[in-house]
Amino acid sequence: MTDVLILGGSFAGLSAALQLARARRPVVVIDHGLPRNRFADASHGFLGHDGKAPRAILEEAMAQMRAYPAFRRVEGEAMSARADGSGFVVSLTDSREFAGARLILATGVRDTLPLPGMDERWGQSVLPCPYCHGYEVADQPLGVLAVSPTSIHQAAMLPDWGPTTYFTQDEYLPDADESALLKRRGVTIEHTPVVELLGAAPGLEAVRLADGRTLPLHALFTGSRTTFTHPIAGQLGCAMEQGPSGPYLRVDAMKQTSVAGVFAAGDAATAMYNASMAAAAGVMAGVSAHRSLVME
Ligand SMILES: Cc1cc2nc3c(=O)[nH]c(=O)nc-3n(C[C@H](O)[C@H](O)[C@H](O)COP(=O)(O)OP(=O)(O)OC[C@H]3O[C@@H](n4cnc5c(N)ncnc54)[C@H](O)[C@@H]3O)c2cc1C
Repeated sequence: MTDVLILGGSFAGLSAALQLARARRPVVVIDHGLPRNRFADASHGFLGHDGKAPRAILEEAMAQMRAYPAFRRVEGEAMSARADGSGFVVSLTDSREFAGARLILATGVRDTLPLPGMDERWGQSVLPCPYCHGYEVADQPLGVLAVSPTSIHQAAMLPDWGPTTYFTQDEYLPDADESALLKRRGVTIEHTPVVELLGAAPGLEAVRLADGRTLPLHALFTGSRTTFTHPIAGQLGCAMEQGPSGPYLRVDAMKQTSVAGVFAAGDAATAMYNASMAAAAGVMAGVSAHRSLVME
């Protein structure tokens, strides 16, 4: 049995592993190799790595991690877990099993996008977040396609990057205060739903509306429905919260879930998606898992 088993070896999981490996605690990271931002050519806003390809950041991290004898990475997909004595046993899809005294869930989330034509443009011209990719599309015609009440806030922010149309999809209509805010910010409000994205993917040239009109657009910001990538948190009985895009794991300030010995970090345990925040949460989860082993 290893001291700490970490599911997910991306920003959150490797950050947790780094703290534990430096504490010389045996740590095994099980990773499927599919970080959420893999569709983007470049990751932005991560201090010291701004503009690098997501995979390049993780490869550099892995090269550093391999220097620590206590660290081991296993390529594989975890599918189930159970409490077992003083720890946890995780089973992979290929039937291998790994045991750890502590478990850190850092497996991110899976995205399901609202319209056809978005998958092939995701991270390129259909974008989740203006801080990540707004600078690169600045001063071009931009849109926000509403998927939840928080879309209105994204639409209010986006004019700092470019002229903005807010597509309510005839569903997420601004109230009087929100309408006034959007007006102040110079946002055009369009109620007729977007039904099609036009232009050669992964680029975007325009959107077609349900009434047949087309509006030129260089980039469309939107949100996904998010789901867990595996049923493990539910199997272990971890409590969850409901965010605007989907469920996430409830953790305290130390990244402890509602189940003793199980910690969670990154996109799986927050409604605020950002690589730096995932890395910071991973650090806390790693330190907390270490502390709980020491205090045992
Ligand atoms: C298109 C797009 C672009 C983005 N651009 C940026 C950006 O520029 N800047 C920024 O700060 N943020 C960006 N983000 C957000 C950022 O990607 C996430 O906040 C960050 O990746 C979260 O890190 P994480 O470690 O929690 O999860 P992830 O990076 O998603 O990593 C989860 C890891 O766990 C593995 N995994 C999942 N399930 C299993 C399983 N069952 N068994 C084993 N391993 C598993 C996955 O394969 C993956 O390697 C972007 C998001 C998207 C969708």
